[in-house]
Amino acid sequence: MHVVAAVLRDARGRILLARRTAGRDLAGAWEFPGGKVEPGETALQALDRELREELGIRIGPARPLVSVPQAYPGKRIVLDVYEVDQFEGTARGLERQALAWAPAEKLASYPMPPADRPVVAALTAADRYL
Ligand code: C5P
Repeated sequence: MHVVAAVLRDARGRILLARRTAGRDLAGAWEFPGGKVEPGETALQALDRELREELGIRIGPARPLVSVPQAYPGKRIVLDVYEVDQFEGTARGLERQALAWAPAEKLASYPMPPADRPVVAALTAADRYL
């Protein structure tokens, strides 16, 4: 399964996390927002679609950050993560998910899905935000 997610930054450099809702796998975990790439879509098309559906925003340019292969019970995913600094609209939890704009240095304190944890490490390694 191919999954895409965004490190979405606001003007103050905070990063958006979305909480997985009850009844889904990894419920309660805070993830970088995104979702599955559907057949016939490119990764960037999927990212654009998912962030419109889940947050009501339209994203600008997306830069590849890291690609994380992860085995979950019963499935394997590859999580492709992009950095996005420009978007139109105000992010809202359109699927009733809680949102948090986290300062970069606070990211490590949020419980996350296993695939998202290396994203924090990649940001730290880049040594630009932490
Ligand atoms: O959101 P959705 O359930 O469609 O995601 C598909 C799979 O990708 C799930 O197993 C989910 O836990 C995983 N995922 C993830 N990190 C994200 C987004 C999705 O591990 N940021």
